Amino acid sequence: MNIILLGPPGAGKGTQARILVEGRNMVQLSTGDMLREARTSGTEMGKMVAEVMDKGHLVTDEIVIGLIREQLTSGKAGGGYIFDGFPRTLAQADALGSLLAELGEPLDAVIEMQVDDAALVSRITARSTCGNCGEVYNDNTKPIPADHVCTSCGQRAEFKRRADDNEESLKTRLLAYYKQTSPLIGYYYAKGALKSVDGLASMDKVSASIAKALG
Ligand code: AMP
Repeated sequence: MNIILLGPPGAGKGTQARILVEGRNMVQLSTGDMLREARTSGTEMGKMVAEVMDKGHLVTDEIVIGLIREQLTSGKAGGGYIFDGFPRTLAQADALGSLLAELGEPLDAVIEMQVDDAALVSRITARSTCGNCGEVYNDNTKPIPADHVCTSCGQRAEFKRRADDNEESLKTRLLAYYKQTSPLIGYYYAKGALKSVDGLASMDKVSASIAKALG
């Protein structure tokens, strides 16, 4: 089963992708994670994308499609792929369609995670992740443990905040979502692949709705 998690920054795509990875042996393909890795690698591509990401703009289609192509052609995912944060433009959606067709792979569902903008701002400005396993924390709802031992991996860890998780960059990221990514809701609806879930519910409720949508 191959699925797309679609929603604005802070909708909970990464958190739900992690739950699907654990529960269904799926492989998470997050272009955001790939780009963050590229920027720390010191490559030319990494330097190029760092500034774009920090400002909250989208990296070029060519770069992200290249990253996804590399992943899809380099191995097979047992339980299928979860596309997290990709596609983000119509050109990326078309490219993904062609890539999957080339590989003879289906696209089984596109899960739209619906949330309101005020909730996104408070979620994002309060979020941090475990530097060891990537578990997501929130200053208000799930604070970092006082002893800095991650509740998910059990390791004493450094907890990181993303450079682009600030109000200024978030405004640009939200605008990019509404201008460039939200047309994908109609695109996948027309293809009969769209399923929408309430992303504002608790983490467990959201994952139950996703499980129901996937059947
Ligand atoms: P994310 O972790 O998905 O919130 O992505 C963080 C940042 O990486 C975004 O704000 C963009 O700058 C960049 N990015 C991630 N995925 C894509 C994509 N599919 N297309 C263009 N830029 C992307």
